[in-house]
Amino acid sequence: MTAQGRIRPVRDRGEPLTVVAGGAGFIGSHLCRALLDRGEAVLCLDTLQTSRASNLAALQGHPRFEFLRHDITQPLPARVLDRTPRIARVWNLACAASPPRYQRDPEHTMLTNVVGTNSLLRLAEAAGARFLLTSTSEVYGDPEIHPQPEDYRGAVNCTGPRACYDEGKRAAESLAFDYGRAGRAEIRVARIFNTYGPNMDPADGRVVSNLICQALRGEPLTIYGDGRQTRSFCYVSDMVAGLLALMEAPVDGMEPVNLGNPAEITVKELLEQVVTLTRTRAPVVRRPLPQDDPRRRRPDIARARALLGWAPSVPLAEGLAATCAWFAAELGAEAGAAPAKASV
Ligand code: UDP
Repeated sequence: MTAQGRIRPVRDRGEPLTVVAGGAGFIGSHLCRALLDRGEAVLCLDTLQTSRASNLAALQGHPRFEFLRHDITQPLPARVLDRTPRIARVWNLACAASPPRYQRDPEHTMLTNVVGTNSLLRLAEAAGARFLLTSTSEVYGDPEIHPQPEDYRGAVNCTGPRACYDEGKRAAESLAFDYGRAGRAEIRVARIFNTYGPNMDPADGRVVSNLICQALRGEPLTIYGDGRQTRSFCYVSDMVAGLLALMEAPVDGMEPVNLGNPAEITVKELLEQVVTLTRTRAPVVRRPLPQDDPRRRRPDIARARALLGWAPSVPLAEGLAATCAWFAAELGAEAGAAPAKASV
């Protein structure tokens, strides 16, 4: 069976199996842990291109966890297809998500979203499994309305450097909804807004990881543009709770659902919070604002509240303190246990 051919549905289900593509990544590793804690058997697929080896190492001893290095742009291997009858859930979190990382190989980013999502949808169809796509707030581009509800169609530059991700995710959504409309798979689509917390890659290039790591290392703190652009940051445990609720809730999946924390701040305010937490004396340096960098972003989560009874509960100050403590331990370990330059 190849990703191009149609997989036949099979009736004998056996012990249920959950497939998590991108399960070694930042959000994926927390999700896998939560699924294992719920008693599920997890088959994680990941290229390890943007994942940290330690995220995976922390899961690998678990008796119900299995890892397969696989790029979802390639046909699914027999080790997955052979277990089609057992597969009850398919999660797609597989894609580089930070702008510098997803722009490094834009063709691969686009294909991961289009070819990879299609391959996983075919798997879900064959298995009769429920499928959840992690889409993104980037489908709203540089939004003209604020905050962003799900029925806002977005302002995306389809020729710009972010298009491989933004348009890739829009195409992935379109595929998922077509499978859903045709009754080929039961689908769910989450639009994830900026998320932070332990297991982020220090080298990912996101604003939260950059500022915290720079502060802890005593390096200049990088602000792109004037720092007045806004984001709304969701702690990872809240995000995972929202994703699980969406996958398991008895809802009509034919509506995308925003998941994020509506508490909006400027990048400059985020910097101030990191400086206060880490007590760093590192200088601040300005860098040019990347092309098509959204000016404002804040989720309207009315739908998630109504459908799932979900809302984030971890305040930014608390989540940032936990994240700083985690990075301090990580960077200390990286440097052979030498203490980071600033403490938390
Ligand atoms: N940013 C920044 N300094 C950094 C990294 C990012 O000021 O070291 C800015 C970036 O230009 C954007 C915001 O912080 O306006 C969030 O960037 P991130 O890459 O974390 O996420 P995204 O742009 O995808 O929301």
